[in-house]
Amino acid sequence: RQRQYRALRDVPAVTTDGVKVDLQINAGLLVDMPHLKDAGADGVGLFRTELLFMLSNTLPKVERQADSYRAIVARADGRPVVFRTLDIGGDKVLHYLRQPKEENPAMGWRAVRMGLDRPALLRTQVRALLRAAAGQELRVMIPMVSMATEMDEVRALVDKERKIMRARGQEPPKKVRLGAMIEVPCLLFELDALMEKVDFVSVGSNDLLQFMYAADRTNARVGSRYDSLSPSPLRALKTLVKAAEKHKVPLTLCGEMAGRPVEALALIALGFRSLSMAPASIGPVKTMILALNARRAAKLVDDLLKKGTTDIRERLDSFAKSEGI
Ligand code: PEP
Ligand code: MG
Repeated sequence: RQRQYRALRDVPAVTTDGVKVDLQINAGLLVDMPHLKDAGADGVGLFRTELLFMLSNTLPKVERQADSYRAIVARADGRPVVFRTLDIGGDKVLHYLRQPKEENPAMGWRAVRMGLDRPALLRTQVRALLRAAAGQELRVMIPMVSMATEMDEVRALVDKERKIMRARGQEPPKKVRLGAMIEVPCLLFELDALMEKVDFVSVGSNDLLQFMYAADRTNARVGSRYDSLSPSPLRALKTLVKAAEKHKVPLTLCGEMAGRPVEALALIALGFRSLSMAPASIGPVKTMILALNARRAAKLVDDLLKKGTTDIRERLDSFAKSEGI
């Protein structure tokens, strides 16, 4: 198997009916970066910056952060990297930051909420990212956005930092693309407003499913009770695909479901053309794509959703089998 996957490294992920799917990896440390080439991925669709902070004993200052990000960009060797701003708070604790103890940390003062309330932290990170991407294109993604207007606040902060850079005579990135993660169900009902404010969106399906089902992703008793291949989450994702197409905003999904072949099949059927996953999943997912007829899969998923069928997983499993996937 491993040898088979390695042989596919330089083969583009294209379905039998000619649909190209961008496959990216999720990463969080410099040691993850060689996987980019080894797996033959198109880029890093999710770089979780909080890991650098969790491994440090003190809050990393701007230059130290910039050095880390610069090293990541260098290792990507021209392939795009999407840096996610700090997703800490709640259960991801930085002992050198004073964080209040919370009853419901997943729904607490985390990620962009903390970033906007305590802008010094977010500003320092943005400054470091801007420095690290001098003269290049920078992609920054914001976790746990709950209202479209939060993206206005983030953009204002980023623009201010770019101005400061220019005033200081430092070279800014050639271009900054700012994206929102779709992890909070509320955003699904504000998509037109959101799409106007972002350069790309990426579904954090781990959190989105947790919040849609009100089922703690870390609690095994409820975590495995609900299937991502059910009408409600798939309809939510379909709505998202339509909104992204309407506004011509690039869309990716970077939660764990992207890395499971049957789920990835469903996502492609819904219209996703970009997926980001653990490096080890690239081979299996690419193998599936190379055997997939996207048009037939789309027709099937569309029919199943129209009927409201609840055995979608079984139906997709047997479709895959009958198609020789
Ligand atoms: C997600 O929520 O799906 C996601 C990709 O982010 P994380 O798993 O880091 O919360
Ligand atoms: Mg998340």
